[in-house]
Amino acid sequence: MALRTGKQFLEGLRDDREVWLGGERVADVTAHPGLRRGAETLAALMDRNHRPELREVLTYPVDGGAERAPMALLPPRTREDLARRSAAMLDWARVSGGMLGRTPDYLNASFMAFAAAHEFFAAVRPEFGENVLRYYETIRDRDLVLTHTLVNPQVNRRLTADGTPSPEVALHLVREDSRGLIVRGARLLATLGPISDELAVFPSTVLKVSAESRPFALAFALPNATPGMKYVCRDSYDHGKSHFDAPLASRFEEMDAVVIFDDVLVPWERVFLYDDPAACNAAYKETNAVVHMMHQVVCKNVAKAEFIVGLLCAMAEASERDQLPAVQGMIAEAMWIAESMKAFLRAAEADAALDTWSTMTPARMPLDTARNVFPKMYPRLAELVQLLGSSSLMATPSEADFESPLAEDLERYFPLATLDARDRVGLFRLAHDVAASGFGNRQLLYERFFFGPPERMASAFYGIYDKTPLVDRVHDFLRGGAEDAGEG
Ligand SMILES: Cc1cc2nc3c(=O)[nH]c(=O)nc-3n(C[C@H](O)[C@H](O)[C@H](O)COP(=O)(O)OP(=O)(O)OC[C@H]3O[C@@H](n4cnc5c(N)ncnc54)[C@H](O)[C@@H]3O)c2cc1C
Repeated sequence: MALRTGKQFLEGLRDDREVWLGGERVADVTAHPGLRRGAETLAALMDRNHRPELREVLTYPVDGGAERAPMALLPPRTREDLARRSAAMLDWARVSGGMLGRTPDYLNASFMAFAAAHEFFAAVRPEFGENVLRYYETIRDRDLVLTHTLVNPQVNRRLTADGTPSPEVALHLVREDSRGLIVRGARLLATLGPISDELAVFPSTVLKVSAESRPFALAFALPNATPGMKYVCRDSYDHGKSHFDAPLASRFEEMDAVVIFDDVLVPWERVFLYDDPAACNAAYKETNAVVHMMHQVVCKNVAKAEFIVGLLCAMAEASERDQLPAVQGMIAEAMWIAESMKAFLRAAEADAALDTWSTMTPARMPLDTARNVFPKMYPRLAELVQLLGSSSLMATPSEADFESPLAEDLERYFPLATLDARDRVGLFRLAHDVAASGFGNRQLLYERFFFGPPERMASAFYGIYDKTPLVDRVHDFLRGGAEDAGEG
């Protein structure tokens, strides 16, 4: 049992995994130009856990002993524990300005909750409860980095609207034997997939509770080098540019991949749910894993909104436009978004309560509100960067230009009121990476969809919202109840 170093994490990725990118099977994800630096950033996060000044913030002593584990695996028993968890998740999120959505603490938070609620799984089959507990300990003791996949690809939306997956493509059971389950099909998307250690196949949450859905009712986890498992990557946004030229894409390419299962064996000890669509649909809510995942997500939202507020202020100050009321108004919008996310986080922790599994769980409504509104707010943040940056997002000579015969001209024509030419271009190249590059646009898509289809998340929110007292108040008012109250 030990916290791994970044070097150990990278060594762990050099296995026989099957990763395809650009028509080639990737021999070593830690050396491939489209994946290497994303993996190195994760390694740097692992090393951060070893920094003496951050040890108490980022890690905790397992069972009070000498061994330590990442804070997101700490089962919270008090509100102070929740605050320790968010402090650690905020620290990691601020390293990337919230641009890394799938840092390992996201899955760690979900498996902490699953383990705390292992009886939920044991209720389906006793061994599933044990498997979830043992797997949580494996993640903790080997300091594993996980990705996950939740969504079945669909061929025909009209046919699958009732929750019956497309048998041609969706991941499903082929057969079971004494060793375990044999599964076949695909799942999308696994962010961080190719540069993580293991894949958690989460239960799809929108299954029709019927006999036809049972083969699709699966939850398990496997090492990425499992025979028959293939990652099909999209194009990488890391084009090998320098950190100056692409400050975000050169560091934070976390890769999204479709996962194909070619008659893959899932050993029984790695199965958490199987053959029970109702349990799959209920898993996140009943275990509160979704709430602890939202807790991590809102920490990311705070870090991301703060990062963009800082960027907008730096852009405005660079040309002394920060004195203009219209510009102040634009940036104030971004500040409201950052302050809203912080307020949701504080409210969730302040109103936290012990749940059925004796886990101190943040209040759901502030976090669920944050996860539903941030996908609508983030496009406005990116738009504000475009509006404030305008042509400066395009007036961006490269680092090589500053080392060429052009340098003198650049030093002359590109300075701003408070920044020399190089710093000015560096700043607007960052703004470009947030709001105009391929990397930046993927961030928009990520924020819109990573937690689920927006219309389904909104209707789920409507479903759990405590509407009755508010509706009663309106009917009271219409029946003149309000006046009575006013009369005293
Ligand atoms: C960058 C990125 C990273 C991701 N990373 C992960 C990951 O790590 N793990 C993971 O499990 N998933 C991941 N996802 C997948 C994500 O969970 C799904 O994209 C999301 O759940 C939406 O499902 P879908 O893409 O199949 O969209 P669809 O369900 O096909 O929806 C497409 C559009 O149609 C609309 N729509 C669909 N059905 C209806 C309806 N009934 N009524 C009205 N409108 C409807 C949706 O709102 C949406 O706008 C990622 C997605 C993105 C974009």
